[in-house]
Amino acid sequence: MRATKGRQAVLAALDEASDHPTAEDLLMRARKTDPALSLSSVYRILKEFHDRGMVRRHVFTQGRAVWELAQRALHAHLIDVHTGEIVELPGADLVRMYEAAAETLGYRLRDVRLELYGERIDDERASPHV
Ligand SMILES: [Zn+2]
Repeated sequence: MRATKGRQAVLAALDEASDHPTAEDLLMRARKTDPALSLSSVYRILKEFHDRGMVRRHVFTQGRAVWELAQRALHAHLIDVHTGEIVELPGADLVRMYEAAAETLGYRLRDVRLELYGERIDDERASPHV
């Protein structure tokens, strides 16, 4: 895969992301490096990266795909049911347990779909305790 300006810009935007950006978010960020980039190019580049196992694609509650680099450690995601905010649980032992279980079968996990849905305990929209 040639390191085109567009690919480098999208890769840098993914690398710098501390959140879970959509293709639109990545377009906004990558345009700082490559102003000529289009949304269709970003989608094409993300598909190429995904085909090569370089990125993970997640679709959470809002139905929009978000992206993160596959080189990051596998982790579970906790999605706030009110705000849609995605919180990572990087130290989730369950994920490590799945990785270990897969390895005993001779597999390296490439993705884990472990989504937890919650609401902040101090959120006034939260369901009252019974
Ligand atoms: Zn994540």
